[in-house]
Order: sequence, then structure tokens, then C-alpha cells
Amino acid sequence: MSQDKLQRYLFEKADVRGEIVQLDESYQQMLAGKPYPASVAKLLGEMLAATSLLTAILKFEGEIAVQLQGDGPVNLVAVNGSHKQQLRGVARWKQDVQTDDLQQLIGKGQLVITITPTQGERYQGIVGLTESTLAGCLEQYFLQSEQLKTRLWLHADGAHAAGMLLQALPESDKSQEVEFEHLESLTDTIKAEELFELEAEQVLHRLYHQEEVRVFEATEVSFKCGCSRERSLNALSSVSKAELTEVLEERGHIDMHCDYCGSNYRFDLIDMEAFWAGGQTSSEQQH
Ligand SMILES: [Zn+2]
Repeated sequence: MSQDKLQRYLFEKADVRGEIVQLDESYQQMLAGKPYPASVAKLLGEMLAATSLLTAILKFEGEIAVQLQGDGPVNLVAVNGSHKQQLRGVARWKQDVQTDDLQQLIGKGQLVITITPTQGERYQGIVGLTESTLAGCLEQYFLQSEQLKTRLWLHADGAHAAGMLLQALPESDKSQEVEFEHLESLTDTIKAEELFELEAEQVLHRLYHQEEVRVFEATEVSFKCGCSRERSLNALSSVSKAELTEVLEERGHIDMHCDYCGSNYRFDLIDMEAFWAGGQTSSEQQH
């Protein structure tokens, strides 16, 4: 595939919208340098595709954070996405378990979706892990939080991640249910390999050539971590000065590590004194 992209489309004769996302490079960048077990890498890929699909539904500028938390072998899977389709993600696991079953991987836990608009109130939705797939849990989320019939198809294999979404529009009524089911059954026929290998246009043609589909311009999707030296320093404001001074005396510096991209930010006494004084941080300084 040429590049990582997301494509939105609309069925002209039904109140249903759709999305398709195909991710190779951003997925591989997210996994790079991290010894994720195969099952975790797969789940992270599904989360990446899902977050991209969810982010594309946003009607405003902002960020979506999708998190799976539980007491199972994989305690945390977190993926963040922005309206610019810049994504990042990370997972923590205690044990390598070879299964595709979400409940076996995460254990007793929940799916938390946090939507943070650039301007406006933060919104959080939580659903229990009642389904054995991430797609199933997200469908529950949409039904509960937005009362919108939604179907998701998510696939990942450690090299490719891809997903599709169908959602009834808010104005859709009961008479459209048959139409939604028809589109659902068409989309059900797509195989993971086809989503990984075919161009989006080919997939849409293969599935919906008898439907009237309006396809919008594709959006590029990329891996990008929003971390920076300045943000890491600001994060230290939640730690007491006494505690930080102790670390500085002990080691001579404070290290802040970003779990998402592996970046390390180091601050010495001079940096910290400037920060505490409320002055400019030496953000361009190299250590
Ligand atoms: Zn980072």
C-alpha cells in the first residue's frame, strides 16, 4: 500500500456512513524497539486502527484516548489520536499469553474512551469488557454512549493494521435498519488479507459496487508522539520541590522517559532552578 490513510464514505441511499483505515508504517513505528509479545502487538494494531476510526468521527479539533485496563496478563493498552490523525500508543504486559480473546488478555477490566476537545469540556465514556473482541466492546460503547448502531471490523498481524466502520447517522430511523443490515452483511465478506493488501478504492469497489457510495478525500495517518522537553518539564510541576531536589543531589539530573516513543529528557539543577523561578526553560539546550 502506498501510505497510511483513512478514507470516509457515505451511502447516498441510506443514512449510514463508513470509514476504512489501513496502517503499515505508523503501526510498525509504534512497535519499533519494543519487545511486545505477538498477541499484544496484534491488540495494539487493532487499537491503533480503532482509534483512527474514532478520531475521524470527531466533529471538532481535539484528541481521543482509547485505553484498555484490567487485571489480566496485559494490564494496559493505550492509544491516543488527534483530529490530524496523528497517533501513538503503548502497552504494558506481565505475561506472554497466546490468545486473541480480549477478555483473556485484559482480564477483568474496562474500555475507557476520553475525548478532549481543544476547546470545551472533556468527555469520558467507560464500558466493561463484556465481549471477546475489541470491535465488540466498541460497538457496545457506541450503543451506550451515543445510541448509534455501529459495526467495526478490526484486523492486525504485527505488520499491518486495518479497520472498517459502519455507523447509522443520528437522523437514521427504524426504516433504515434493513439497509444497515444489508451493508453490514456486505462488509462482513471482507477478509483481513484483503484489507492488508488491497488499496482502499479496491476494497470499497469489491464490497459496495452495487451501492451508491460517496467517497471523501483520504486523510493521511501518521505516528507522532506529542511529547517534548517542555511538556516533560511541566509534568514535573506535580512533584514537590523537596523530592526533586533529593533526586538532583543523588544523581545530578532528573530523567523523564516517554513510554510512547522512547524519548528521554534530562534536566539538571540549572534547568530546574530556572523552571522553579518561573523563567524560560532551556528547551534548546543539549545534554
Ligand atoms: Zn514521546
